Amino acid sequence: MAKGKKRLKEPKKRKRAESAEQAEIEAESPPESIEEPPVVEPPPGMELQAPPEEIPLEIDEDYDVEAESELEEEEADLEEGEGEDKKKLRKGMFRSRRVLSRPFVRAATRKAIDPEFWHEAEEALIAADAGVTCASAIVEGARDRILSQGIRDMDGLKEAFADEVAETLRSFGAPGELPEDRPHVIFIVGVNGVGKTTTTAKIGYQYKQLGYKVLFAAADTFRAAGIEQMEMWAHRVGAPVVRHKTGGDPAAVVFDALESAKARGIDVVLVDTAGRLHTKKNLMDELNKMCRVAERQVERPPEAVLVIDATTGQNGVSQARVFGEALDISSIALTKMDGSAKGGVVLAIGAELSIPVAYVGMGEGLADLRPFDPEAYAHALF
Ligand code: GDP
Repeated sequence: MAKGKKRLKEPKKRKRAESAEQAEIEAESPPESIEEPPVVEPPPGMELQAPPEEIPLEIDEDYDVEAESELEEEEADLEEGEGEDKKKLRKGMFRSRRVLSRPFVRAATRKAIDPEFWHEAEEALIAADAGVTCASAIVEGARDRILSQGIRDMDGLKEAFADEVAETLRSFGAPGELPEDRPHVIFIVGVNGVGKTTTTAKIGYQYKQLGYKVLFAAADTFRAAGIEQMEMWAHRVGAPVVRHKTGGDPAAVVFDALESAKARGIDVVLVDTAGRLHTKKNLMDELNKMCRVAERQVERPPEAVLVIDATTGQNGVSQARVFGEALDISSIALTKMDGSAKGGVVLAIGAELSIPVAYVGMGEGLADLRPFDPEAYAHALF
């Protein structure tokens, strides 16, 4: 391994380094005792097993290192009979999967699960936008699984990593059920262009399909096009929309929408919000005010779904941070998963804000929204 590169947990070496340091300190101060501590031998069969530095990797005869290392999008190992969603997900995650396949290909070339493999796996996860903290934790978790289960084959290795990623995703919580209290208010927030208005419509459509009465609030009053777009979508969904003039106060739109919702016995109010405000403070004040108005009217805090474009990578993390400061985000809608996704970003966001992903956008149509499936997502990465 190149000098200076960071290594993950290596208990044996660290211990040695620590004791070397300790020896130096002790050498400077006079020893209190020169007695050697007694050596305690473990009973037979109970010897401590230090993690091996290098484990031979068993490679199947039909494993083609060259083919794996030159994985092309068209060959993105789609099996026949797989559902359309799974295909889209695997296709969307192709780039991330290619990045993540590198350490496995290299391990196959060396025919060893060695310290270099753990290091390369961590680097690949960081390159796939999982964030440094999450990448280290996933490698440590996967390493525990692999060592404790005696995994020696390629499929087992990948499975261990996918299982660890799925468990990490589940640890961020699960999206809640629709509460009993009516009307239930959902704010849809995010920067412009991520798919906010489309996602607002898609969520409304889902609730409508389930038999709930839905109302939209066109609270992106900054853009005339934003209001018109919301109206167009509401029309397609077949649900009413409350709108004001361009440049109006979005909190007033929320107020009117909730008055209307209470009068009509609406179950779910979906509020499309503005995505580009002049300053961060402006954005916070605006969203805060809208939330306060909603909370006062329905006497409970609204749900807030943060829309993140899956193709934007690390930028999504800073977006989550900014919106997270403005309001309590309940969950994430990850859009454009049918595009070229930066698959690791939900791990980085989850690790930082502990927010579950509720929805995945798989296309531009009303019906192209799916509940997030951590297992399917994690397995599409490896
Ligand atoms: P907003 O500015 O955040 O409100 O974004 P829009 O809802 O106007 O969407 C921006 C663009 O992204 C539009 O062309 C949408 O059709 C597209 N879009 C939204 N969600 C998805 C998705 O899941 N997949 C794909 N392929 N496109 C999407």
